[in-house]
Amino acid sequence: MPRKLVWIQNKNFQGFGCSECNWVFEPVGELGGKSLDEMKQKYEAGRDKEFAAHDCVRHPGAARPKTEWVAAVLRALKIKAANTRDEEWIKTLEDGRRVKFIYQELPEDGAFITAQLAGHEVVYSVVLTRAGNPLSRDDVESHFNGELSKKSKN
Ligand SMILES: [Zn+2]
Repeated sequence: MPRKLVWIQNKNFQGFGCSECNWVFEPVGELGGKSLDEMKQKYEAGRDKEFAAHDCVRHPGAARPKTEWVAAVLRALKIKAANTRDEEWIKTLEDGRRVKFIYQELPEDGAFITAQLAGHEVVYSVVLTRAGNPLSRDDVESHFNGELSKKSKN
């Protein structure tokens, strides 16, 4: 099972983590950048590098820590996006599984979209730049065709 960078959200943590172990991205340092775009790029570059470097075997079963920094980034994104569209809906797939989609417009034609299968902790998410807002529900759902077409492991 190849590991993937996934969005994780529960009562103790929200941020990016590994689909196959308990590694989560914990950025070090200040929330920098002159613009939202620059901040996002720095954040994503750091995240992708750390993700590529981590060793799943060394993160089994560890408790997911609270990550204040990640929460701060998300608050910043949320606040800056406060006047834009934010939509949430549930769709039932052909095989009966239910998926919750969230579509959050970001400034500068960005979008933050997520899909979560009912009863699962893992949330798939994508940050789009030049999204072509506003996106339709079909547009958002089509981004997750790959993830959602996989049969569950049970
Ligand atoms: Zn891992």
